[in-house]
Amino acid sequence: MKKVVIVGAGIIGAALGYHLSRRNGIAVTFLERDIPGAGASGHSFAWVNAFGKDPREYHTLNRRALDMWYRLAHQLNADIGIHYGGEMRWENNPQRASQLRDRIRQIQTWGYPCRLITRDEMLALEPHLHLDTVEAASFSEADIHIETDKFIDVCLRRACEAGAVVHPKSGVTEFVICNGSITAVKTTDAEFPCDVVVLASGVQTTDLASLAQVHIPQRRSPGIVIKTTLCAKVLHNVSIIHAPSIDKNHQHLHLRQLTDGSLRIGQGTQEGINRDDSQRHADALLDQARAYLPAIADAEAIPTPVGYRPMPLDGFPVLGFAKAVPNLYITLMHSGVTLAPLVGEMVTLEIADGVQIDWFAPYRPERFG
Ligand SMILES: Cc1cc2nc3c(=O)[nH]c(=O)nc-3n(C[C@H](O)[C@H](O)[C@H](O)COP(=O)(O)OP(=O)(O)OC[C@H]3O[C@@H](n4cnc5c(N)ncnc54)[C@H](O)[C@@H]3O)c2cc1C
Repeated sequence: MKKVVIVGAGIIGAALGYHLSRRNGIAVTFLERDIPGAGASGHSFAWVNAFGKDPREYHTLNRRALDMWYRLAHQLNADIGIHYGGEMRWENNPQRASQLRDRIRQIQTWGYPCRLITRDEMLALEPHLHLDTVEAASFSEADIHIETDKFIDVCLRRACEAGAVVHPKSGVTEFVICNGSITAVKTTDAEFPCDVVVLASGVQTTDLASLAQVHIPQRRSPGIVIKTTLCAKVLHNVSIIHAPSIDKNHQHLHLRQLTDGSLRIGQGTQEGINRDDSQRHADALLDQARAYLPAIADAEAIPTPVGYRPMPLDGFPVLGFAKAVPNLYITLMHSGVTLAPLVGEMVTLEIADGVQIDWFAPYRPERFG
């Protein structure tokens, strides 16, 4: 049996462990310092898309992953909290409207299923929307969102049914290295022999890699996605909404509704920096959302702690075995919710079958030297 230890049970570790444990001859052990999903995956806005991803090569990687979600959902055949329906956005000032039209035109030429829509089409899709000025609007039909806790839970259960073992509250502190390879992974109270170690440890990947003298630089990228109390269903068709700022003092807003009726609301761009986890900020965000969705009048805002995006220094994923430690595999990325099905399946090919996936060529760890 090839013993694979996965350090971290977020969405990337869980997706990978699910795929690996379906292979004969591979024994998967998850070591998770907290509980599964406690890292970035639990704080994510979890919009699965390739909308704003550039350059084209990276857009295509995300697009492939988006399409793979549909197959993975079919294969898992369980409640993974997947919300189909697409993403709708609009702009209320001429300059931003022109940027939106240009972006839609560009990603249409890349084959992205999106289009400009009219105000009437917007209201046909989402009748509860209260619309003021609409200079331009678009609809990206394939986009989805995921309830990451449900997905992680299903993947870990399936992996365990196939023989994997999950150790929560088991933080990795050290690697035993012999002749340049890792032979065991240590936690504070146990040691796990291994043939391959995968770092799927989110923002902690940099520190853990440095224990094996591997350099994976990151930048800090704090963000906030607030929750609300349960509300009646307000989004009937689309799964994600991006709304413009209501005035110069506010930022854009993004919003999704979960199966239980609660909302998740963030502001600014997908990489926007935000450290304000106060009740005041959460209330302000919800007030802004109410301007567009008066039907959520009774909802209350629940502030959430800051989440840190795993963010490689150049913004692109890090995927591959480390040159200096040939049995150490690194998986570090922003947009990990989008990329999870692709990373899970393709990294399994690299680990189980020893191939090199061409798509990963720009994203190898050695680019950092
Ligand atoms: C505010 C915010 C919004 C986002 N929005 C989106 C979005 O809309 N779409 C999208 O695709 N992506 C989004 N992301 C990014 C996405 O959430 C992440 O890329 C993804 O969750 C990364 O998953 P992961 O499994 O690699 O890391 P994590 O979820 O962070 O999991 C790493 C796990 O490793 C564990 N760990 C750490 N150190 C150790 C150790 N020493 N020993 C054992 N275990 C350890 C942690 O406890 C954690 O559970 C967002 C992120 C944030 C924070």
